[in-house]
Amino acid sequence: MEHSNDSTTEAVTVVETILQHPDTICCICFEVLSGSGCQRLSCGHVLHEKCVREMRCFGAVGRCPLCRHASDLLTPIQDLIEQASTCRVRDANVECAQLASEVLALDPTNEHANLLLGELYRSGQGVHKDPCKAFELLEQGRSQGNARCATQLGVLYGDFGMNNKAKELYEEGRLRGDSRGALNLGVCAMEEGQEQQAKEFFTEAVLGGDAGGYTYIGSLHDRAGDLLIAEAFYKLGWLHGHVQALSYLGALRRDQGQVEEAVRLLELACQLGDPDAAVELCEIHKQG
Ligand SMILES: [Zn+2]
Ligand SMILES: [Zn+2]
Repeated sequence: MEHSNDSTTEAVTVVETILQHPDTICCICFEVLSGSGCQRLSCGHVLHEKCVREMRCFGAVGRCPLCRHASDLLTPIQDLIEQASTCRVRDANVECAQLASEVLALDPTNEHANLLLGELYRSGQGVHKDPCKAFELLEQGRSQGNARCATQLGVLYGDFGMNNKAKELYEEGRLRGDSRGALNLGVCAMEEGQEQQAKEFFTEAVLGGDAGGYTYIGSLHDRAGDLLIAEAFYKLGWLHGHVQALSYLGALRRDQGQVEEAVRLLELACQLGDPDAAVELCEIHKQG
């Protein structure tokens, strides 16, 4: 009982000291603030840099713990990741790279930031293309157990023609639950002429929520000459948001001699950022 009174008294004393001398004691760890390693918030209160970092990693509210004043310096990591992901979807890649870098400065092992920034360095969107940095980031995310990082690391190996290593990593991503891993394995099987196996992977991708599976199943039917079925699957892919489906549908229309419709579809795919569409358009313009 006496002990509990002592602790209460002690806690009250600490709180009083902090309130009286907010510049000398950190209100997160209750330890003395010395010259270096401290951070002053916009409200004027000072905290340890490392305490701020921990607070942001473990879901802070973005407000000063002493006066509840909102501060950008306290934005939780989770919020930064959400902002970065939104930027990526909107193709605001410079902003996405900045936000992901900010997260990694606070927590270098953050798998979501590793994935976002790794993809940007691989593709050269929003940053200068840098396969070495991409490798480091994706490998870091993969070592944290991130399935998509494994798949994207496979894509990076594929960029350099190391297809066996790529397939190994797609399989790793797939086994950890990334439907993109299954999709990429399907594309490999299709290129190797293993249609049945490819179809199984594409179906698995569709069931896992990757609409690219529809498009590629369409592509298998396209190759086999079942154009009506191919068209139906391309439309399914497009309806589910897979832009490449538009390019494939455009190419199908071109082969059917409907050049005007082909150009319309390919131009739309081009505007939506599919690089394959630009290639197809060039081909049409060369011939026309
Ligand atoms: Zn502290
Ligand atoms: Zn404050």
